[in-house]
Amino acid sequence: MSDMSGLLEVQRLDNVLDQLRYKHEHLPERAELESLAADRTKLNAAAKRTEEQRAELQRREREFENEANDLEEKASRLEAKLYDGSVTSPKEATALGEEIKHLKERQGMLEEQGIELLVEMDPLNEQMVRAEAARGEMEAKQGALEAALAADEADLEGGIESAVSERAAAAATVPADSVELYEKMRITYGPDAVVEFDAGKGGGCPVAMSAVELDRWKHLPSGTAEPCVDCGRMVIKLD
Ligand SMILES: [Zn+2]
Repeated sequence: MSDMSGLLEVQRLDNVLDQLRYKHEHLPERAELESLAADRTKLNAAAKRTEEQRAELQRREREFENEANDLEEKASRLEAKLYDGSVTSPKEATALGEEIKHLKERQGMLEEQGIELLVEMDPLNEQMVRAEAARGEMEAKQGALEAALAADEADLEGGIESAVSERAAAAATVPADSVELYEKMRITYGPDAVVEFDAGKGGGCPVAMSAVELDRWKHLPSGTAEPCVDCGRMVIKLD
């Protein structure tokens, strides 16, 4: 390998590194994790609304229950009074009996309303169970994605590390100022700043050399490295 031919290897490794770094930046797991996080935020917001609705129903149900209990206690007290012998007038006894009946009716109504609220709560309870199951699935999926992402990152980082050291070894075979020149040219020409002369491909540049230039190159010795007169890329003749 002539000094300059090492540049082709440096360029090949730079291209490999660009690809590996691009892949590292654009690993699909990262986008999937982001969309999963968005789904989770939505799920949590919906679950919070359901939970609030359920809490409100629960609060009302407890109110009915407490009121029904109060009425029951009051009716019991009046029943005790009715039968403890302290009420002697039949008129008073009838009035007390009416009041007890009324209290028990009201208690029964409240208990029914409480049951209706419990029935209303049923679908909300089911929704909460489903949300919890979905959250569990999402957590499992997130764990799997994070593991896959870490594995892919480690893979690519390993590839990058070895390409970086291969590149350093290849660059060490080329004069430092040529490497610098190539690095500047790479900014302009991208992944093919340096081309290997190939007579069969019009010289090797994206735009074919003129017949005269091609003929000149055919007669140049191996190891020649010159800028292309047409496009300015570095052309290297290996053999
Ligand atoms: Zn050219």
